[in-house]
Amino acid sequence: MSRFLSPRFAALKQYVPGEQPQNRSFIKLNTNESPYPPSPEVVAAICRGEVEKLRLYSDPQCRVLRQTLAAHYGVEPENVIVGNGSDEILSFIFMAFCDSERGVAFPDISYGFYPVYADLYGLDRREIPLREDFSLCAEDYCGINRTIVFANPNAPTGLAISPDEVERIVKSNPDNVVAVDEAYVDFGGESCVSLTKTYDNLLVVQTFSKSRSLAGARLGYAIGSDELIADLERLRNSTNPYNVNRLTLIAGQRAVESQSYYYENCAKTAQTRDKTAESLRALGFSCTDSKANFIFAEHSKLSGIELYSGLRERGILVRHFNKPRIDNHVRITVGTSEQMEALVAAIKEML
Ligand SMILES: *Cc1c(COP(=O)(O)O)cnc(C)c1O
Repeated sequence: MSRFLSPRFAALKQYVPGEQPQNRSFIKLNTNESPYPPSPEVVAAICRGEVEKLRLYSDPQCRVLRQTLAAHYGVEPENVIVGNGSDEILSFIFMAFCDSERGVAFPDISYGFYPVYADLYGLDRREIPLREDFSLCAEDYCGINRTIVFANPNAPTGLAISPDEVERIVKSNPDNVVAVDEAYVDFGGESCVSLTKTYDNLLVVQTFSKSRSLAGARLGYAIGSDELIADLERLRNSTNPYNVNRLTLIAGQRAVESQSYYYENCAKTAQTRDKTAESLRALGFSCTDSKANFIFAEHSKLSGIELYSGLRERGILVRHFNKPRIDNHVRITVGTSEQMEALVAAIKEML
């Protein structure tokens, strides 16, 4: 830290992303990327002509993409904001709807960026413990008079609550924003987008990084009432009005239009997930009932760190979190069925 850094950031703990090795080729099951390429329509759209247009700024209002998303979800473009990954959207949410008066609440075990944003913006944060089995207790969030953020399905547990339970939380906090991070909803969760028409305090956040195979393009969005989206737009325009680049805007639009391609990929991933979890259980693992594109597993004989290291030595990257309650688990992204067979073979060898 230099002597110039503002003291308000001195204690800031940075978000630590999963490893992104740039040389050695691993079977990469550590950051929940899709093993499948973007749709052929997306690939074809990023053509020479579009690259040449990079001399021009992108549309600061992202009109075409917002219209495409709005039509897809049956809402208006005014109900959609797009960002440089859903991480940026989440950042705007923490910035916009929390302050020293109004704190934030999220689960003790969830996406690692939530505590980082809470600290970055100097917020009072309450981390609400998940139950012993890692399920989220909706009751714990009812009437708590804070901004609420949670992932559904949750990460890294993969567990989901029903839209009815989400609705209870939203209804019981009418004067606070509830942001539901649906990064993994396409792999088996139930979306709450339709509830945004009824509740003006609900935001649903989604990403193109997982189910739509565009992690490297950096694209995410939120859907909510006109007022909430206008608030977020105010911050976006005060931070970086060209936050989504031209190529990503086109890729995103084409991806939304390639619905059946992605639907099939998600179905394949869900099938591979359930089959792999079954193989792991047969080897003595316990796995949560994941609705996401990853498996959250622990073994009675191999610790989390042993699993992580043993797999790494065998060329397979998974994610281990050095955190109370979950340090004996690993989170394994669901890849192709061939990749998952290699994973199971490596684990058999270790056992
Ligand atoms: C991956 C992930 C995100 C971030 O996605 P980007 O759009 O790539 O920034 C947000 N929330 C959760 C829970 C995630 O797992």
